[in-house]
Amino acid sequence: MRDASLRNARVEWQQLAAQIRRHDRLYYQKDAPEISDAEYDEMRRRLERLEAEFPELQTPDSPTQTVGAPPLETFAKVRHKIPMLSLNNAMSEEEVREWDERLKRFLGLKEEENIVYFPEPKIDGLSFSARYENGKFVQGTTRGDGEVGENITDNLATILHPELYGDFPKTLEVRGEVYMTHDNFRKLNEQRKAADEPEFANPRNAAAGSLRQLDAQITRQRDLHYFIYGWGEISDDITIGDSHYHFMERLRAWGQFFTTLHHARYRGHFVRGAIEGCIEAYRAMLQNRQGLPYDIDGVVYKVDSLEYQRRLGEVGRAPRWAIAHKFPAEQARTILENIDIQVGRTGTLTPVARLKPVSVGGVMVSNATLHNEDEIARKDVRIGDTVIVQRAGDVIPQIVGIDESKRPPHAKPYHFPKVCPVCGSSAVREEGEVAWRCTGGLVCEAQVVERLKHFVSRNALNIDGMGEKQIELFWKKGWVKTVADIFHLKKHVDEIRQMEGWGEKSAKNLMEAIEHARDVRLEKFIYALGIRHVGEITARLLARYYQGYEAWFEVMSALHQSEDARAALDSIDGIGGTVIESLTNFFSESHNLEVVHKLRQQLRIADAEAVASSSPVAGKTVVFTGTLTQLTRSEAKARAESLGAHVASSVSARTDYVIAGEDAGSKLKKARDLGVKILSEPEWLELINT
Ligand code: AMP
Repeated sequence: MRDASLRNARVEWQQLAAQIRRHDRLYYQKDAPEISDAEYDEMRRRLERLEAEFPELQTPDSPTQTVGAPPLETFAKVRHKIPMLSLNNAMSEEEVREWDERLKRFLGLKEEENIVYFPEPKIDGLSFSARYENGKFVQGTTRGDGEVGENITDNLATILHPELYGDFPKTLEVRGEVYMTHDNFRKLNEQRKAADEPEFANPRNAAAGSLRQLDAQITRQRDLHYFIYGWGEISDDITIGDSHYHFMERLRAWGQFFTTLHHARYRGHFVRGAIEGCIEAYRAMLQNRQGLPYDIDGVVYKVDSLEYQRRLGEVGRAPRWAIAHKFPAEQARTILENIDIQVGRTGTLTPVARLKPVSVGGVMVSNATLHNEDEIARKDVRIGDTVIVQRAGDVIPQIVGIDESKRPPHAKPYHFPKVCPVCGSSAVREEGEVAWRCTGGLVCEAQVVERLKHFVSRNALNIDGMGEKQIELFWKKGWVKTVADIFHLKKHVDEIRQMEGWGEKSAKNLMEAIEHARDVRLEKFIYALGIRHVGEITARLLARYYQGYEAWFEVMSALHQSEDARAALDSIDGIGGTVIESLTNFFSESHNLEVVHKLRQQLRIADAEAVASSSPVAGKTVVFTGTLTQLTRSEAKARAESLGAHVASSVSARTDYVIAGEDAGSKLKKARDLGVKILSEPEWLELINT
């Protein structure tokens, strides 16, 4: 029964996968999609469901496994002299034994003769080919489609040895896998989360994204590693010999200890031998894989004799002499008991599935990520459902699908909450975004440390002596719950003085810095609130427009109920819909209003720097060029702006004045050509001082 449906499913899977790949090509390479995103999503969803039901259908190159990174057209293409093949898979020990039998028959060996294999872990990373000419690393490529890859020489140069040693051949291409360790993957994702950038789904994607960077400096920072598992073109000034294992040893010596797979840490486990010994190595690795610092998804058995390899040749896109014995997909079924919402440091609401604990590939899992609202809707995940959980390597487990046949009759579609579960403020989802965000920035516990950090940062209130560590400490002590509490820290000065790492002087300095921060200009104050989309420039525009705190606050507090207030904002040059919406959301929260109000009582908020409309330069566009002697460039710019001038960086017909300092060059010439009025530094100072 199951066999029949598996056969049907396989046929459907193949058709679907082929269609999806075709649409991928149309979309990514030709920029000419033929179907809508929704239709495409539906096809992928169907494929995911099939794979969830019949995990044996899932291949590593299934469209469900190839995510993200479309081929970047900007990397030069390189045709491989010797194609980079893929590997055939075996999903069970039975299949492995059958393969061994087939090879024996192919080679005409007797029943009792054994083929010697070399088992290697299958690293779940990204394959590369690295070419050395006369001992120098000259070119690195990705596998691409096996025939043509991308030139990633600069990127690989940050990882690989630049030269070879000893009796190396004139041309040598080594092939291997680049990967990212679990630790690095976790760190990278933490950084990305803090910077509000999308996280990588797994170490493999992270490695791929890091290697295929147009700026190789980024690759360098990502700290990638590699393993070499084979070779490509080799000049005939050396003889390769007759054993895979021995030639790998030589490769290793040329690269002065290239990290080759056969060596690494597996030596004890992975020894050459007949198929049964290899299967044992596989079982041992299946047990031990959790202890490895990187992902492996199976064991590759390779015929050790190079003579046999030559005779066996290739079938389709894979060598006949190797097979990847895959680890079983780490999936399990369990009940989704609840969906909780977690609030990140920047206010993003992430749904987390609470599961009836289940063992997935030997690890107990009770939580899984559901990503976002759309993802829940796409999979139609409901509380009470039986879900299929998958662990891909080290990443947070994911829900890959549901078993609709087990759905309890009362299960209802999930509605994403519209309020923040931490602080009760309303949540918003901006156009074009997938995430809902909490708007209670100033009061939300989940975001408080981030907010405090921003509030005291240099361009905001600039309170020295309050770094992340101190903020976390004060927060944990319960002294600082919102930004307004900073101004009550005085009460705790004795305790602060006594704390580790603090003393008389540092406590005093902090108190002084806080006192000093009580005097703040409106633009800094607005910026310090950390309202989404309200950066320094927007804060300055607002402050200049409203001049004083009272006028500004009156409009802000009316935003959510007054169309006029919003229209007034809209009339400010440089302020658009996104900012207005964000301000409206922020000031609709009574909690936020309360904190702003409390701050007001603690601070002396000075009016925005006046824009003197009577100044002769108000409304004029000016350009500074050359070296100024009496003012720095930034001072000159700030002065001009405070007088209402617009400071531009290039000269055009619309420029009113060009102020030429010493050694002015092309801008001065352009001003002359265009007939723009040119002033010397003293002339300019005279003009603005009148
Ligand atoms: P597949 O991606 O299923 O076509 O499998 C082939 C790929 O597995 C190769 O292109 C390599 O990137 C990768 N691989 C990982 N470890 C090994 C290994 N020990 N030997 C050969 N290929 C490996």
